[in-house]
Amino acid sequence: MAQKPVVIIDPGHGGPDSGAIGTNGILEKDVILAIAKKCLQLNRTLFQDSLEIYLTRYTDTLVSLGTRARLAKALGADAFVSLHCNQAPNEKAQGFEIFLFHGQGNPKTTVMAANLADQLQQRLGIYDRGIKYANFQVLRDTHGHCPSLLLETGFISNNVEANYTKRTESQSAIALALLQSLIKSFYDD
Ligand SMILES: [Zn+2]
Repeated sequence: MAQKPVVIIDPGHGGPDSGAIGTNGILEKDVILAIAKKCLQLNRTLFQDSLEIYLTRYTDTLVSLGTRARLAKALGADAFVSLHCNQAPNEKAQGFEIFLFHGQGNPKTTVMAANLADQLQQRLGIYDRGIKYANFQVLRDTHGHCPSLLLETGFISNNVEANYTKRTESQSAIALALLQSLIKSFYDD
């Protein structure tokens, strides 16, 4: 590959929009920003900056969904990954989910999603709820430009997963899983 793949990592929510609130008080906006920053750090320290990574936000600010997608286009993204945590009324609900734009036919997106699911399920042992399709705006606005997916890392309405998500070691592990899946997707074929 002549140029480094450009990856946009999009920590959802921010500022007044905290996203989901964990059973242990953690806020979705904070943990996913921490995971996104771990991606930047591990890309540098473990992978010699193999990816050119940009975040859609670096601080606790709210960025509009349209701006997040426009940023991906402006930076010539080769992949767009939106990060979220899940919540559900059923406190037993657990596991990660990966969403793709519905009806998307880009085979690269499917490969990327499958590689990410492998990393999270096989390496970290997080329950795999599967790859699903949704009409989320960030996916709708980016899928025509580059492979794009949205990861719900786990349910912070589930006490076990909230406590897992809170630990910085877990945040690093999820970031590492994401980086390895991206690197495999870009460099292995
Ligand atoms: Zn969210």
